[in-house]
Order: sequence, then C-alpha cells, then structure tokens
Amino acid sequence: MTDVADEAARRSAHKRRLNALIHESASEEERSWAIAFLCECASEHCYETVWQTPEEYEAVHLDARSSVLAPGHRE
Ligand SMILES: [Zn+2]
Repeated sequence: MTDVADEAARRSAHKRRLNALIHESASEEERSWAIAFLCECASEHCYETVWQTPEEYEAVHLDARSSVLAPGHRE
C-alpha cells in the first residue's frame, strides 16, 4: 500500500467511526426513516451528508469493503 492510499484509508476510517456513532445513537423509532450519515470517501474535506435509514447503512456495511458514499464520490 502506498502512503497516499494509507492516508486515504485513515481519513475514511475516521468518517466510518463517526458514522458508527451516528448509527449507534439512532433510536428505535428513528430506524424507520433516513438519518444523516457522512460520506465515507477518501477526501478529508468532504463531510457531505448521505441520507439513509439505519437499515440501509447496515446493508452497506455487511460488506466490509463497501462505504457510504455521496453521488460521484469514491473510496
Ligand atoms: Zn465524499
């Protein structure tokens, strides 16, 4: 892995942790509607919101390699 890829992985890991906290803090009734998660792309300047239900978020993260991404953003 190159340093650049390493740095990108570190930044997206930070946003993944924030999303995990957002997901954890969602109450039972919030599970049925979309809440604001952060785009998990590699850009340190990107904090775009991605509206998903907690169930959709869980579905994305069933595959450890996939990320919550805003349209047009890449891991
Ligand atoms: Zn992004």
